[in-house]
Amino acid sequence: MTFAGSDSIVAHPGEPGFVAAAAVFNSFAVVEPAAAATVRTPEHVRAAIRYAREHGLGLRVISTGHGAGAARPVLGGMLIRTTMDGEVTVDPRRRVVRVPAGTPWHQVVDATEPHGLAAAHGSSGTTGVVGYALRGGLSVYGRMAGLAANGVRAVELVTADGEHRRVDADHDPELFWALRGGGGGFGVVTAIELALFPVTRVITGAAYWPGSLADRLLEAWLAWAKDAPVTVTTSVRVMNLPDVPDVPREIAGRTTFAVDGVVHADQLDPARRNAEDLLGPLRAIGEPVLDTWQEGDPSEVLRAHMDPSEPLPFLGDHMLLDEMGPVGAAQFLEAAGEGSGTPLVAAGLRQLGGAYAHPAEPGGVLDRVAASYSYAGSGLAFSPDAVAALREHCAKTRRLLAPWDSGRVVPSFVEDFQQPQAHLNAAQAAEVDRVRAMVDPDGLFRADISPLPPESDTGQEVP
Ligand SMILES: Cc1cc2nc3c(=O)[nH]c(=O)nc-3n(C[C@H](O)[C@H](O)[C@H](O)COP(=O)(O)OP(=O)(O)OC[C@H]3O[C@@H](n4cnc5c(N)ncnc54)[C@H](O)[C@@H]3O)c2cc1C
Repeated sequence: MTFAGSDSIVAHPGEPGFVAAAAVFNSFAVVEPAAAATVRTPEHVRAAIRYAREHGLGLRVISTGHGAGAARPVLGGMLIRTTMDGEVTVDPRRRVVRVPAGTPWHQVVDATEPHGLAAAHGSSGTTGVVGYALRGGLSVYGRMAGLAANGVRAVELVTADGEHRRVDADHDPELFWALRGGGGGFGVVTAIELALFPVTRVITGAAYWPGSLADRLLEAWLAWAKDAPVTVTTSVRVMNLPDVPDVPREIAGRTTFAVDGVVHADQLDPARRNAEDLLGPLRAIGEPVLDTWQEGDPSEVLRAHMDPSEPLPFLGDHMLLDEMGPVGAAQFLEAAGEGSGTPLVAAGLRQLGGAYAHPAEPGGVLDRVAASYSYAGSGLAFSPDAVAALREHCAKTRRLLAPWDSGRVVPSFVEDFQQPQAHLNAAQAAEVDRVRAMVDPDGLFRADISPLPPESDTGQEVP
């Protein structure tokens, strides 16, 4: 499809541009749309919406496809990939950054660091800002800054009627409320504005120990985590990294237990004490085989967690857990620890509490996380046997951790659309649906809602 002043934006299977438009970071996700559009301007978005209406196609929207496994397979319909033109712009006076949709997080970190500011980003620089922030966003600064959704100051989007709106606390506040954690299906976001906070220095990195020390390390970490300062946000993981050239040889091809995170270090002396309170007792249990914790600039944070930067087929599970104590810790290691036979590459707990627990003002529909830890486990889904082993393992982990499972999730952390995705109560979900029906009365974006109500008819084939 071509129109005045722009390139062709809609491609069909076999046509140039289709493969790039439909490519997703999580290559395990099934993404087979009848048409795919790569959009760079609001006018492109309008043209794509017109095309979908004319051809009776439901719409799905992505930025990078890191979260593609969390949504139902795309089988038919039309996919819009947002790679919006324009720069990341920082307003240091207002402490706000404006980010075009499709921008990966590392570009935001690069833009804000020279101003001594940061947004509530996650552990990876390649994830997209829009899906991450509107689906919750568990940040490496989360115990200090709260959910990333709470830091959203404005959203620019094209709704199903083709209107390009800028919504914030003063303009269309109901839609602004629903966008922040409501689960999508409101339109195509073209840009997002996020709050910034001062960060000039950090202490960050990861320490890895032999997997055999996991029980003592986890016990010590859980004891520390109970009343840790909010300026420190960490996670622990049992890692089974493959023996491949990209993985440091100290931790390749074996089970390790990692503790990584960020200590906000604008005030260096208390930050050093906080880092020592965390790492001292752990290092006393045993010498790490690899230890990258160090003082550095905020951009160092994106290297600490060693997230994959290239697309992979991955599959896993996520739960929000209540305070788990020694029994829960033992169950976690029974599922994921050394000798458990786990097929997961990584299984971990992210520390919540602090600002996560407090509602933001003015918050979106998802404005807090009431649990103590976020569990996530993920493995490589290279073959049907691997998929079966991963699903079986996820079910086993759910059984073992059931006593601490809060029944809720943070949507940005969901990896598998087949796993429970409850993140709102019934009244919140109904209110979000009411707002959605106002901006999309024909249900053009219905297939983009996550989680999809079981009785939904999206017009798309679902296996
Ligand atoms: C290696 C790795 C590390 C990660 N680390 C973290 C972390 O630290 N914290 C955390 O919370 N999460 C983390 N995640 C999960 C990540 O936040 C989600 O996958 C998130 O969805 C990524 O955002 P995206 O825009 O790239 O998503 P996409 O997969 O592109 O989109 C996911 C959904 O977001 C919506 N969406 C995306 N773009 C638009 C748009 N322009 N308009 C309207 N809707 C849109 C759609 O509903 C879409 O289905 C990580 C994932 C990976 C793979």
